[in-house]
Amino acid sequence: SKWLLEVDDLKTYFPLKKGLFQREASFIKAVDGVSFRLKKGETLGIVGESGCGKSTTGRSIMSLIKPTGGSVKYEGQEMTTLSQSEMKKLRRQMQIVFQDPYGSLNPRMTVYETLDEALSVYAPESNKHLRRDRVIELLNQVGLNPTFVDRYPHEFSGGQRQRIGIARAIAVKPSLIVADEPVSALDVSIQAQILNQLQDLQKSLQLTYIFISHDLSVVKHISDRIGVMYLGRMIENAGKHQLYSNPLHPYSQALLSAIPIRSPLQKKERIVLPGDVPSPVNPPTGCTFHPRCSQCMDICKTDRPKEIEAEPGHFVACHLYG
Ligand code: SF4
Ligand code: MG
Repeated sequence: SKWLLEVDDLKTYFPLKKGLFQREASFIKAVDGVSFRLKKGETLGIVGESGCGKSTTGRSIMSLIKPTGGSVKYEGQEMTTLSQSEMKKLRRQMQIVFQDPYGSLNPRMTVYETLDEALSVYAPESNKHLRRDRVIELLNQVGLNPTFVDRYPHEFSGGQRQRIGIARAIAVKPSLIVADEPVSALDVSIQAQILNQLQDLQKSLQLTYIFISHDLSVVKHISDRIGVMYLGRMIENAGKHQLYSNPLHPYSQALLSAIPIRSPLQKKERIVLPGDVPSPVNPPTGCTFHPRCSQCMDICKTDRPKEIEAEPGHFVACHLYG
């Protein structure tokens, strides 16, 4: 298969407690039918507002959360039906970098202990001295001074901590990394350094990334393809340049209109959407974006738009197309 990852109609629902007068259980439809393909070595950026299901999509793909339905194939192998032990072997191939470089490291463990633990999970029998050498190598790879190896997290800046988080993710030589808002907690001046580090590692280690962010300028910097999510669905998915030059979905158009443009010659009208994102418990019928869409037609209120390929490699789910 030419794809590292094939995701089809992925759904992850979380049950809500039944109310007193409710007959049927209700669900938060955090992910509600997401499909995409990803090639080895590519970066798919996933963007959308908070609560759109980006993080749950990333975690469901890695089986950190069990999906409710759909299919996730990794190198052609179906992941959603694997046994625990088969899963453990595959899990090594996919690692996550978290948003919060403060909360995601154990404050009572040195850098060495943190990275050694990551290594030991997959090779408990390996030699301690070799593991220490590997930890030093990892620190060099992520641009941290190896003499810091016995320091504790509080002795590092936010950017340095995120480098430790990245070292932990690449420790076991994965091929896929899900980076969930990895620079959102960092100062803008540090963000570019971490993004460049991630890009260097991608080249040298042939990594594939799913890069999750609410920030379109960050996603633009790092991605080859971009998927736009709204209320648990990926409503558009295209090459970066396709999406930025020719966004098709009215929601993508609104999102993109909100990023400041550098050239004063380019004129762009900011599209302000009416209302808020509706609740994923009772999402609107048909196209879930219809209550906020200026181009809403009758069919949009009743029929869920199917994803179509509007131009090669450019997918959109909207009744205006196809
Ligand atoms: Fe707007 Fe209809 Fe397209 Fe939804 S399907 S984005 S409501 S035009
Ligand atoms: Mg999130």
